[in-house]
Amino acid sequence: MLARPPVRRRPFLRMAGIGRSMVLTFDDGPDPRYTPAILRTLRRYDVRAMFFVCGEMAVENRDLLREMADDGHVVGNHSWSHPLIPRLSPDGIRSELGRTSEIVERTVGDAPDWYRAPYGAWNRRSFEIGAELGMEPLGWTVDTLDWREPGVRAISSAGCASGAGPGVVVLSHDAGGNRQQSVAALRTYLPQLLDAGYRITVPSTAPRA
Ligand SMILES: [Zn+2]
Repeated sequence: MLARPPVRRRPFLRMAGIGRSMVLTFDDGPDPRYTPAILRTLRRYDVRAMFFVCGEMAVENRDLLREMADDGHVVGNHSWSHPLIPRLSPDGIRSELGRTSEIVERTVGDAPDWYRAPYGAWNRRSFEIGAELGMEPLGWTVDTLDWREPGVRAISSAGCASGAGPGVVVLSHDAGGNRQQSVAALRTYLPQLLDAGYRITVPSTAPRA
């Protein structure tokens, strides 16, 4: 593990200094029903993204975790069981984040450098414990609201037409419910972003924002 990052007081919400680039993130997986299709689309356009995985999903789908890492995607920590972090004791937070980092490290060889609190609900302890575990907190700039299943067009529009911009971090999901719309929307907005001249990238391990 690299040097421990500083204890933040808020998560990164966008990536500054990466020019006309954007970051796509997928939460709650891996899910064998949807993650493979997301991976295929990313592969087709040769772009890297971030997957914030839940430990309880990861432990059941370690092959998908390996596939993410093999394709150059960043595997982040999204807790073990997707609880509301502020409701947990410090030991509870440590267990949720620590066990997830462990399964990621055991599966792909490296512990996550990034974590994201479920529901974007952070607290001071989560910043301290995340830093202890060698992780930086990443929120998002644009929420596609794909979990509401608003339709492929609405998700695509949030991810591209209305949401695009330099340094924007886009939130969507590859698990946690029916994600067929999320899968289909990515096939629409990813090529649109590329056509609009955006580079889709992942942050380097040392964040600059
Ligand atoms: Zn989530």
